[in-house]
Amino acid sequence: PYTGISGAEIMEKRKQFLGSSLYHFYKTPVNIVEGKMQYLYDENGKRYLDAIAGIVTVSCGHCHPDVVDAIVNQTKLLQHASTVYLHHAIAEYAEAMASKMPGDLKVVYFVNSGTEANELAMLMARLYSGNLSMVGLRNAYHGGSTGAMGLTALNTWKYPIPQGEIHHVVNPDPYHGSFGSDPLPYARELQDHIHYGTAGNVAGFIAETFQGAGGAVELAPGYLKLAYEIIRKAGGVCIADEVQSGFGRTGSHYWGFETQGVVPDIVTMAKGIGNGLPLAAVVTTTEIANVLAAKIIFNTFGGNPVCSAGGHAVLKVLDREKRQEQCASVGTHLLERLRAIQQKHEIIGDVRGRGLMVGVEFVKDRVEKTPATVETGLLFEKLKDLGVLVGKGGLHGNVFRIKPPMCFTKEDADFLVDTLDYAIDTM
Ligand code: PMP
Repeated sequence: PYTGISGAEIMEKRKQFLGSSLYHFYKTPVNIVEGKMQYLYDENGKRYLDAIAGIVTVSCGHCHPDVVDAIVNQTKLLQHASTVYLHHAIAEYAEAMASKMPGDLKVVYFVNSGTEANELAMLMARLYSGNLSMVGLRNAYHGGSTGAMGLTALNTWKYPIPQGEIHHVVNPDPYHGSFGSDPLPYARELQDHIHYGTAGNVAGFIAETFQGAGGAVELAPGYLKLAYEIIRKAGGVCIADEVQSGFGRTGSHYWGFETQGVVPDIVTMAKGIGNGLPLAAVVTTTEIANVLAAKIIFNTFGGNPVCSAGGHAVLKVLDREKRQEQCASVGTHLLERLRAIQQKHEIIGDVRGRGLMVGVEFVKDRVEKTPATVETGLLFEKLKDLGVLVGKGGLHGNVFRIKPPMCFTKEDADFLVDTLDYAIDTM
């Protein structure tokens, strides 16, 4: 049994000693004290089905024993020395990571967060291209540092400070976008923006293939192929932000960008890469990576022995336990069941996703697609009371994000959908 301080006491301490921007879910936030695979436990021993995985971060499952063993064993032997010395873990892990990448994407830089990974990718794009303008999509989230906040295009996370030479183009969003699922007009918008809004040359383009914080939006099929062509013609490099969509989560492919049939020049990853460890990476080609050879890029903890051992264990666990296949089969079942209850509940405007990257958008009216923000908040609380934790997203906070640990089963999916069905019925 838990013997620590109560949730109420933690809230008091957070108010006093932690920055007020530290945001929490739920009116009475849950005090999570333990995790096991797809389940979380609060201070009273109540079990929750975790359908958001610490914001899409726990890939193998909470405290997966193999990952824990790798971390503990390495910690006992050597926690940190620095990459200025040799260590086998970072070298072996980089080799394993490179083996997961297509084409010439073979050079890995390890960092500590998705924000840092995107900053580094942007730096490389600018140095390699010799251009300054970065292009991203509206509704994107790429991080919280000055540069990564600049790439982000959701006002929830943007402060009014100078963020550099960054442009945001029309989002190829099949549900809300003016052009539906047709990639061509969105690509024309991108081309026009480069013509009219930049000097004509760009440093690079960054996109999540499945927008996460923006509310589980899968880009219109075929868009990235067109966008990459346009960007490369304008002298830029193409960056795929796989922070949420990588490692098999989409079920059909290991990397999100593969669903669009493209090979990026730079790939950034974080979150699921470490199953909860502070670990992230940038993978690129030798040619692009070499632009950083003129100076030293030093990152104290990037690829440290503990994170490398843990990250390497994650790759092995996901393969051995066939989690990509599981994401495909469980995800298909989950989407089918959600679409079935959508028939019954007018408030469910859209059910979308692929694998275990699923979004459910709540609207007041299916034609106007007016966000049902208040109702989404009520359902969010109700699901928590009933023992299911989901995520929330979208500019208006009216999308449930369902991105559980990849060990999530069909029975878990059924429990989630039955609970949501009941919650809407009784709202
Ligand atoms: N890119 C994407 C797609 C993300 O979802 C996030 C985190 N929500 C980031 C980048 C930034 O990652 P971090 O919080 O590790 O800096």
